[in-house]
Amino acid sequence: MYQETCCTCETVFSMTDEIHEKRLNDHKLFYCPKGHSMHYAGKSKAEKLQEEVNNLRREIRETHSIAEMNLKRWIHEERRRTGYQGLVKKLQKQIAELKQALS
Ligand SMILES: [Zn+2]
Repeated sequence: MYQETCCTCETVFSMTDEIHEKRLNDHKLFYCPKGHSMHYAGKSKAEKLQEEVNNLRREIRETHSIAEMNLKRWIHEERRRTGYQGLVKKLQKQIAELKQALS
């Protein structure tokens, strides 16, 4: 059993742990024996954990997105580097041919 104190008349009353857990999660109204209504406004443990899971999922998505962007940049730079190497080889070959033609 869970003991609660009415926020209006300060009467102490009990509810089952199951009902207490339900009201923590669903934030529905419940009543003291004198009929005053109240509800739990704060986030429940389940809601806090869900929020944490959502934040972690968002972080994973962002990290994945950054990693993917960096991989694309690396591939682009690698292709440029390979392209320049090909150009250098081509120019070296032309220079060698010209030297041979002039000698
Ligand atoms: Zn009350």
